[in-house]
Amino acid sequence: MSARRWDPAPLLAALHSVDVGEVRVGEPMSRHTTLHVGGPADLLVLPSRLDQVERLLDLCRAHDAPLTPLGRGSNLLVRDGGLEGVVLATERLTGFALGEGGVTAWAGLTLGGLVNRALRAGRTGLEWSAGIPGSVGGGVFMNAGAHGGQMADHVRRVAFLPLAAPAPSPGGEPEVLSAAECAFAYRTSRFQRRPGVVLWAELAAPAGDLVAARSRLAAFRDHRRRTQPQAWPNCGSVFRNPPGLSAGRLVEAAGGKGRQVGGARISDVHGNFIVNVGGARADDVLALIEWAREAVLRQSGVELELEVRVLP
Ligand SMILES: Cc1cc2nc3c(=O)[nH]c(=O)nc-3n(C[C@H](O)[C@H](O)[C@H](O)COP(=O)(O)OP(=O)(O)OC[C@H]3O[C@@H](n4cnc5c(N)ncnc54)[C@H](O)[C@@H]3O)c2cc1C
Repeated sequence: MSARRWDPAPLLAALHSVDVGEVRVGEPMSRHTTLHVGGPADLLVLPSRLDQVERLLDLCRAHDAPLTPLGRGSNLLVRDGGLEGVVLATERLTGFALGEGGVTAWAGLTLGGLVNRALRAGRTGLEWSAGIPGSVGGGVFMNAGAHGGQMADHVRRVAFLPLAAPAPSPGGEPEVLSAAECAFAYRTSRFQRRPGVVLWAELAAPAGDLVAARSRLAAFRDHRRRTQPQAWPNCGSVFRNPPGLSAGRLVEAAGGKGRQVGGARISDVHGNFIVNVGGARADDVLALIEWAREAVLRQSGVELELEVRVLP
């Protein structure tokens, strides 16, 4: 583990007498990322209620703890040195409720779970998201999108608890932002520029034709099966698509497909995927990323930007 500046001991002691959910010390992040890579987090906390999240954030502020919200770890490359501070894992925050023409989902519900629950209640329109292996919170943070749909097109309101000032008073209400206030754009949102936790999102999902919705779902699944590597752990698209171009094709044209460093390999199926073929370290993945960036710049003159979030 790299040298740490923040000492977890005082916060850990405080957590013993406060109900914030399960607390794990030195938890390997490789257990919580779809790439199965990443060193230990000082503290990983698993709240299952929203009041536990509010309490945890109060304590993080009081102890100056760096905070990393974690969804399903499907867009993350955590370095081998791990994460300083508190990782707030949302996976147990899976609430769901029906509303007028929409649904409200807590941050930790998977997008697949969201679509299943919406369809069971006769609500449609979110099918594009079912194959994205992330959470509602991560989807909002990233403005996830696929098959012509994206989070920005559905969000009505998002509840957000900021880490830094102006923070609510202890036990106070979270901010509730309109879609416009979320400042969505291609794979980004205002939450990427402001530390804090997305608690829940209200999404438009009207009653609709269930047979058509289920057939869309099947077609999207089939398309994913044909075009994306399924066999090895990965973190989805590594690079953003430059306007009008495909990052995968650029990496392929630069001779990247099949290139391997340690246990990490640029997929033979899709040039924008790096897969863990066994025992990959974050350093292996980072070396491939650097190689791909330089090779694409040399070959095509295009500077690729990362879509995957490298932490810290
Ligand atoms: C096989 C595969 C296919 C994929 N296909 C697609 C695709 O088609 N389209 C697409 O857009 N993406 C795709 N992805 C990428 C990824 O699934 C999405 O970016 C997803 O939205 C990430 O959600 P997550 O819960 O896993 O977030 P994580 O990876 O856990 O986190 C991503 C970022 O969001 C932050 N975050 C997570 N939850 C919260 C929260 N509650 N509050 C504040 N911040 C939070 C984290 O701190 C981190 O910075 C794919 C990934 C894989 C592995």
